[in-house]
This record gives sequence, structure tokens and C-alpha cells, in this order.
Amino acid sequence: MVDLDKIKNFAVIGGGIMGSGIAQVALLTGYEKVMVIDLSTEILEKSKTLIQQRIEALESEERCNEFFSYHEIFKNLDFKKKLESYESVGIVANKVDTRTIMNRLCTETKISKGVRDADFVIEAVSEKLKLKQKIFEQLGESCTAQTVMASNTSTMSITKIAKDCKRPEKVIGMHFHTFFPITGVLIEITPGEKTSEESLELGREIAQRFPSILGDRFTVQLEKESPGLIANRLAITGSLYFNWLMNQAIDNGISREQLAAANISSETADLIGIDTIYYCAKYFEETVSPEFAPSKRITELFKAGKFGRKVGEGFYKWNEDGPIKNLPPVEKKTTDFLADVLDLEIISAIQLNEACRMLEEGVIKSYELIDEVILKGTFMPGPFTLGKTKFKEWVEKLDEFARKSGITYLIPCDMMRSGRFLEFK
Ligand code: NAD
Repeated sequence: MVDLDKIKNFAVIGGGIMGSGIAQVALLTGYEKVMVIDLSTEILEKSKTLIQQRIEALESEERCNEFFSYHEIFKNLDFKKKLESYESVGIVANKVDTRTIMNRLCTETKISKGVRDADFVIEAVSEKLKLKQKIFEQLGESCTAQTVMASNTSTMSITKIAKDCKRPEKVIGMHFHTFFPITGVLIEITPGEKTSEESLELGREIAQRFPSILGDRFTVQLEKESPGLIANRLAITGSLYFNWLMNQAIDNGISREQLAAANISSETADLIGIDTIYYCAKYFEETVSPEFAPSKRITELFKAGKFGRKVGEGFYKWNEDGPIKNLPPVEKKTTDFLADVLDLEIISAIQLNEACRMLEEGVIKSYELIDEVILKGTFMPGPFTLGKTKFKEWVEKLDEFARKSGITYLIPCDMMRSGRFLEFK
């Protein structure tokens, strides 16, 4: 049995999109000290301001609605519901104000200093393997022997990340499935080859306690490592279809503005971060198949430093209110092209195939659990919901698409072709 009361000091490495969000949920959970560590005091000041604004946004209905209005899912949530999870951890009920909460936040530029009294550490630096390996080597040197060290990696192997860490049994994966940890519920926990059961148990308990505006957390533990874990693995494989569609559009003289005007939009990519998407695609290219290489457009934006909302420009330019779109009206040529080419069922078939591969590899034992993970992570039904009955039709669709597109990675695996996944309920 883990003793959560012993976890008082929390440290987050990296105060970017994810690090500041993770620090916010850690503060709201009530840890005595939350330390954010990043490269410079300027970055740390920015992170602190963001955290403060987001906590203040929970103080009144008006601010809350304004702050969370950017996404459809949050528009219709009532204020009480938004605050429920805060009440459950005593923040609102005890009338603790933002200032008191912010007093528990500390910042530091030196990892060795920042983590030396930490009971739990989450790393959220850029998605680069060598950088993460270096950080975990330092953590192994500087943390206490009891400290569990987690990585929020979106794609990478925990075994590889912990390669040079002195205490690999203390290293786990803890992935928040959203670019804004307070508004998501799904957290995926992954072991590395040397991770101890005790470290995983602590990770699960800690993850389960983080408040979320959408209610209780849903924490799932993978049986073994998987590139992209569960939800990102399906999303990244699905993006092979979108990359193909974009290329077809360009070949047919359809501009990116026209696609955006027709709602084939890349706004989410800007919110996630173009650099993160680029690094994730690179990791898949190197470890899964060369067919995952970052698309031409993502590479162009990455090389130009247009990393999305966090730097003010990506697919779109951004201001305080959101993306500046100025999109043209949709032309007939565009609607005709999409009517001919767009087939969203192919994405479902691609995701069913990938989910079957996960069952084949033993990443997870039940297909119902995969569907639940997808539902909790994306609020959309998982691939088996329809795939259970449509898999034969989808096998044919996917065979044809793999032939037409030349993307061999998408050829259905035996588990999907045979329907044997049905045994993994
Ligand atoms: P980000 O670019 O917003 O932040 C990364 C931060 O790490 C930056 O502030 C950077 O200065 C800092 N950093 C870099 N090197 C450092 C070092 N040596 N020491 C301390 N800090 C350092 O990126 P992000 O979107 O927050 O992603 C962080 C991690 O979380 C990545 O592994 C990413 O894959 C994962 N993740 C991202 C998302 C998302 O939607 N953006 C969602 C889930 C998980």
C-alpha cells in the first residue's frame, strides 16, 4: 500500500504548455510545495503568470466561462460542474484563494537544487529523447532514493528514457492526454522494463487524485510500453490518412486555406505545438515505420520556428482571443474534391487495425478497455464500438486504401483480418 500522505513536495521539470498545466493541477491537489524548473527566469515568470491566471479563472463564473469558452466541450458546462472537482479536494470548500495557492509555487533554474527534496517529479520538457535521457540521468543523481520520477512523454519508451538513470525502477510514464491538464480526464501510466510495481502504484494513486474540470480522472496502466501509448498511437496512425488527404488536395490544386475553410482544420495542431507534433512524428518514423515521417507542411513550419499558439504563429497567427482566420468562402472545386475523396470511415478502420496490433503485442488485454481509453481521452467512441461488427468491411476498405495510397503500414494485421480480437473482451 502506498502512503500518499508522505508525498508533500512535488517538482515539475519544464514549465511550458504541459509543465505549467501539471503544476496547476498539483497545486490544486494541495501539495505543500510545487516546484517548477525550467531553463530561464523569463520562461518561469511566464509559466507562473499562466498558472495564476488559470487558477484565478476559477474564482468567478464570468471569468471561468470566459477562460474556458475556447472549446465547444466547455461551452455548455455549468459553473458548478466545473468546480465540483475543486470542491472535492477542498480548495473551493475551504475558500482557499488564488494567492494562498500561489504561495506554494516555487521556481528554479537548476535541476539539482529544484528536486533535492521532491517526493515526486514529473518531467515535461520537449519531446526529444536525448534531452529526456540527460534529464533522467540528472534526476537519478539529485533525487532522494525514494523519489518516483515520471515522464509525460507523448510517444517514447520509458526504458530508453531511463537508460542512464541510476534508479530505473523509480521511473514511470505518466501521460496527461490533453494540452491542458485541468480539462482532460485521461492519464496513461506506463512501465519501463525495470520499473517496480511500487513506483507504478504510487503513480496511479497520484494521477487519480489530480482534479479535472470534467470530473473524475480515468487512469489506465499499460501492460508494457507502446509508442504513443494508447490514445496517441491511434491518433498518430490516423494522421497518416490526413497527410495523404492534404497531399491529394495540393496535387488537385486545392489550397490549405480552402481546406481550412471546409473545416479540415489544423487549429488543434497549433494548440498542441508544431514542434511536439514534429518530434512525435520523427520518433514514429525512427521506431515504427519510415511512413510516419513528418508531413511537408509540419516540417516547413517547424524549420521556420512557427511552433503554434505558444509562439504566436503556426498554421494560423494567434492573438489573445484565439487564431486569426480570415478564411475565404469554400469553393465548389473544394466541396467536389472532398465529396470524392474524403472517407472518414477509413480513419476508423486505421484505428481499429492499430488497436488490434496493441492487443497482438500485449500492450493491453481488453478491447473494451481500449474503447474506454479513447472515450475518456477524446470524448469520441473507440474503434471497436463499430469495428466489432464492421471489421470485415473495414478490412476490405483498408486493403484498398493501402494499395491506393501506397502506405504499406496500413495493411490490416491478422488480428483485425480474422476478427480474433473479439476473444479479448
Ligand atoms: P513546451 O515546448 O511547451 O515546453 C517544454 C518546456 O521544456 C519549455 O519551457 C522548455 O524551456 C523546457 N525545457 C527544455 N529543456 C529543458 C531543460 N534542460 N531543463 C528544464 N526545462 C527545459 O512543450 P509541451 O507541450 O509542454 O510538452 C512537454 C512534454 O509533454 C513533451 O514530452 C510532450 O510530448 C508532452 N505532452 C505534450 C502535450 C501537448 O499537447 N502539448 C500533451 C501531452 C504530453
